Amino acid sequence: MSYKHKPSVIETVAEKLKIIPDLHGSEPAKGFATGSGQIACPPPEHWDHWVELDSKSWPERKEKAYMLVPTACFNCEAGCGLLAYVDKETMTMRKLVGNPFHPASRGRNCAKGPATLNQIEDQDRVLYPMKRAGARGAGKWERVSWDSVLDDISSRMRKAIKEGRNNEISYHVGRPGHEGFMEWVLRAWNVDGHNSHTNICSSGARFGYALWEGFDRPSPDHANARFILLISAHLESGHYFNPHSQRIIEARMKGAKLAVLDPRLSNTASMSDYWMTSYPGTEPAVMLAMARVIIDEGLYNRDYLENWVNWQEYLQAEYPGTPVLFENFIEALKKEYASYTPEFAEKESGVPAATIIEVARKIGEAGTQFSTHVWRSASSANLGGWEVSRTLHFLNVLTGSVGTVGGTAPSAWNKFKPHTHAEPKPQTHWNELHLPNEYPLAHFEMSFLLPHFLKEGRGKLDVYFTRVFNPVWTYPDGFSWIEALEDESKIGLHAALTPTWSETAYFADYVLPMGHSPERHDIISYETHAGKWIAFRQPVLRVARKKMGEKIDYTWQANVGEVWEEDEFWIELTWRIDPDGSMGIRQYCESPYRPGQKITIDEYYRYIFERVPKLPEAAAAEGLDPLQYMQKYGAFEVESKVYDVNEKPVAPSDLEGVSVDPATGLMKKNGKAVGVEVNGKSCTGFPTPSRKQEFYSQTMVDWKWPEYRLPGYIKSHIHEETMDHGKGEFVLVPTFRLPVLIHSRSGNSKWLAEIANRNPVWISATDGAALGIQNGDLIRVNTDIGYFINRAWVTEGIRPGVVACSHHIGRWRREQDPSCNRWSTNKVNISREGKGKWKLRVEESIMPFESEDPDTSRIFWSDGGVHQNITFPVHPDPISGMHCWHQKVRIEKAHEGDLYGDVFVDTERSFQIYKEWLSMTRPAPGPGGLRRPLWMNRPFRPDESTFYINKG
Ligand code: SF4
Repeated sequence: MSYKHKPSVIETVAEKLKIIPDLHGSEPAKGFATGSGQIACPPPEHWDHWVELDSKSWPERKEKAYMLVPTACFNCEAGCGLLAYVDKETMTMRKLVGNPFHPASRGRNCAKGPATLNQIEDQDRVLYPMKRAGARGAGKWERVSWDSVLDDISSRMRKAIKEGRNNEISYHVGRPGHEGFMEWVLRAWNVDGHNSHTNICSSGARFGYALWEGFDRPSPDHANARFILLISAHLESGHYFNPHSQRIIEARMKGAKLAVLDPRLSNTASMSDYWMTSYPGTEPAVMLAMARVIIDEGLYNRDYLENWVNWQEYLQAEYPGTPVLFENFIEALKKEYASYTPEFAEKESGVPAATIIEVARKIGEAGTQFSTHVWRSASSANLGGWEVSRTLHFLNVLTGSVGTVGGTAPSAWNKFKPHTHAEPKPQTHWNELHLPNEYPLAHFEMSFLLPHFLKEGRGKLDVYFTRVFNPVWTYPDGFSWIEALEDESKIGLHAALTPTWSETAYFADYVLPMGHSPERHDIISYETHAGKWIAFRQPVLRVARKKMGEKIDYTWQANVGEVWEEDEFWIELTWRIDPDGSMGIRQYCESPYRPGQKITIDEYYRYIFERVPKLPEAAAAEGLDPLQYMQKYGAFEVESKVYDVNEKPVAPSDLEGVSVDPATGLMKKNGKAVGVEVNGKSCTGFPTPSRKQEFYSQTMVDWKWPEYRLPGYIKSHIHEETMDHGKGEFVLVPTFRLPVLIHSRSGNSKWLAEIANRNPVWISATDGAALGIQNGDLIRVNTDIGYFINRAWVTEGIRPGVVACSHHIGRWRREQDPSCNRWSTNKVNISREGKGKWKLRVEESIMPFESEDPDTSRIFWSDGGVHQNITFPVHPDPISGMHCWHQKVRIEKAHEGDLYGDVFVDTERSFQIYKEWLSMTRPAPGPGGLRRPLWMNRPFRPDESTFYINKG
C-alpha cells in the first residue's frame, strides 16, 4: 500500500494557479519505480529531446533543448539514480536531478547528488595525468601522457609478478562501487591486492552480523515495519540513508514508532518517538536488557527460535546431560541474561529503566515487523563494538523478524551479483600486509595499520594504487601515513587514482584523474530495501554524443581534459602487463564476442546485462537489447519482494548423498554443510556452520575467545570508569556525519561547502559551565598522541560527559601543493619538531579567488574547520579488527599561543599505542593450522589452500 498525500489548501491553490506542478491529479507514469509516488520528471519517451525554459535567461522566456541521460550518484555508497540534463547546443551538463526509475532512490536525492555538477565544473580539478618532478611530497608536478603512465606502471607490475612478488602490488580503495570489477582484475593478475577502508568504517557491525548469520550487513524493510530501532542518524546520513529514510517516513506515516540510541541530538533523534541518550559504548547493555524483558515476558517468537536458532548446539555444549528441549533453552537464556536488568542497563548507559522496558515491549508487540539498523556509529567506535550489532540482531532473532515483511534481512538477499565474461580462478597468494595472522577473525583488511606494518619491516609495496582514497586525512594517525608514503624504500610507486587533489595525492608519484559519477561506468546494487536491483553508472556525455552521431571509442574522449574512467584504465593496464598473452593474464581482457581482441567497455557490460534475470525480456518488450535498456533507464528491478530466503529448498543436486544430523537437522554432503532440515523441509538456511542463526558461536570458542561465545557486553576502552571528569576527561564522539558532506570529495563542491564549513566541538551546557567554557571559546582537545585546537559549541543537544566533533571538515593544502579544493581547504604550514613530532598550523583560511566561475569571488565563509582525525592513534579491535574511533580526551582552555586549527601529533607515541593494542590479540593458527575459519568469508576470497598458514 502506498501513502496518498492529501494536499493542503495552500498546495491546492498553488497547483490551480500553476505556481507548482499538479502533484495530486494523475497516476504515476508507466514504468516508474515501485512506490515512487509522483516525481516531476519528463516522460522517458521525451528524454532524447526535451525542451524547457532556460532559468538563467529569465525574465526572457528562452527555450533550451536537452537530452536526458540517466546515471548513478557516486557521492556515497547508496548509488541513487541521477538524471543528467545535457544542453544539446553546448553538449555540457546543466543539472542533475533524481531518476524516478531507480528502484531504491525513486527519483529522490540528497544534496550531494545534484552537487555532482560542482565537482565536474570545479576550477581546481585535476584534468591531466601528473607525475611528480621532485622529491615525493615536495609539490612539484609535470603533466605526462597516459601512454607513458600505463607503460611505466605495467612494466613494473610485470616484473613484480614474474618475480613472484605478487604481494607487493596493492589496490587500496576509499570509495568503492563497481560491483565485481576489481575482483575480476585482481584475480586476473593473481594478486591478493584488495585493501579497503572497511576497517575504519563498518567492519565492527559487519562482524557482529556475520557471527549470527554469515551475512554481514542488515537490510531493513523499514517501509513495512511497525517499530524501528536505529543506532545511527539514519534519517539524515549514513549508508543508504536516502533510500532508507524515505521508507522510514512511509512507515511512520502508517503509524510505526521510531526509537534512536545516540548520545547526540541528531536530526534523526529529534524526529524519533524515543531518543535514548546512552553513554557511548553501553548500547549492548541496553539491548541485552531489552532482550531480557522480551524473554522474561514471553514476547519472543517461539516458532522462529525453535526452528532457526542453533539452541541445540548451545545446550549440548553448555549443559551436557540436560535434555535438549526448547523449554530448557529458554530457562538457560533466562539464567544467562539474568544480570542484564533494566536497572543495570540504566546504571551503565543512563537510559532510564522505564524507557528500556517500554521500548522492549513495543519491540515485542511489533514482532516480525521490527526493523533495525546499525552500520557504523557505536559498532565502529568502541572496543568490542561488534557486540552492538550482535545484540541488536539478537532482538531481531528473538522477535523472529529476520527476513520478514517489516523485519531486517541479511544484506546479500537484496544485492545482485553480476557475472563477468571471464572469471579467473581465486588468487593463490595471501597478503599478510593486509590480513596478518594476529587478526584471524578481522572482518576486512587491517588497512589502517599499514604504516605501522611497513615501519616494522613486515614487507614493502612495489606498486601501490590508491583509488578515491585519502588516508592522510580520513584515517586516524595521518602523520604516520605521511611518513610511510614519503619513504620510497617502503612504497616503490604510488599511483593515486582520484577525481580531485587530496592530502594523500600530494604524496603520490602519479596523480591520475578519474571521472565523477556522470563520467564513468559502474554497476551498482545495494541492500536498500526488501527488493533486488541493479543500477548503471554511465558517462553521460559519452552516451549523449554517441546519440548525436559522434564516434567515441573511449570515455576520456567525451570527458573534460583527459579524465579517464577506471574500467578502461584497468583493462588497458592489464593488457599491457601481458601484451603477448604469455603470462596468462591477457586472456581475461579478451572480448567474449571477438576472440583474441581486447574487450570494449560496451562488450563488458553487454555480457553482464544479457545475464540479468528478466532484463532481456523487459528490454525486448521495448524493442531494445539489455544494454540499450540500461543505457535508457539507468536501473532495473530484478526482484521486488524478497523475504524468507532461508527457507529456499536445497538444490536437488545437493540432496544426493546428503546426511542429516537428527538433533540439529544440519544437512552435510562430503563434509560440507549444504542446508538444514526444518519441519521436514530441506532449506538452504544461512551460510553458517549450523546453517542457522548462531546464538552460540563454536567459532569463538575454537579461535580462543570462549568468553564471547554468546551475544554479550564488552566494556569499551572509553567506559565511564576510565574517565576522571575532574581532570576534564571526556569521551569524544568523532564519528558523526554532516548530511551534506562527503569525506574527501565535497571539498570541490561549492554548494556543499557553502552549507557546511565548520566543525566545532559539541559540549553540554553542564560540562561547559563546570569547565568555564562558553560558546565559541577556543579549546584544546588532548588525545593520546597530541591535540587539536577548536571552538566549543555549548549545547543542550549532547549528553553530559560526552563531547562530539564531526570529521568532515578541516581539509588542507600546503604552500607547495596545487591550489585545490579552495572552497574548503585551509592553507597550512606543516613542520617537524624533532623525531615524529608534527605540527600543523593554519596560515590562511578560506578566501574568495578569481577564476572563470564568478562564484569563486563570492565566497563569504572564512572558516575551513579543524582536522581532528590526524590526532587519533590507531585502536584496532583485537577480534573484529575494526578501528575503535571514540577517544578519551582531555578538554581544557586553549593555551597562550594556541591558534584555531592548530594540530600537534607525536607519531612515536602512536606507534607505541599500536603495539599496546596489538598485544591484545590472540593470533592464528586456529584449528588445523588455519589462519582464518574456512566458513568465514573475506573480501576477494583467495584459494582455500592459502587459508592454511604453512601452505599460503
Ligand atoms: S544518498 Fe545522496 S550522496 Fe548518497 S547516493 Fe544518494 S544522492 Fe548520492
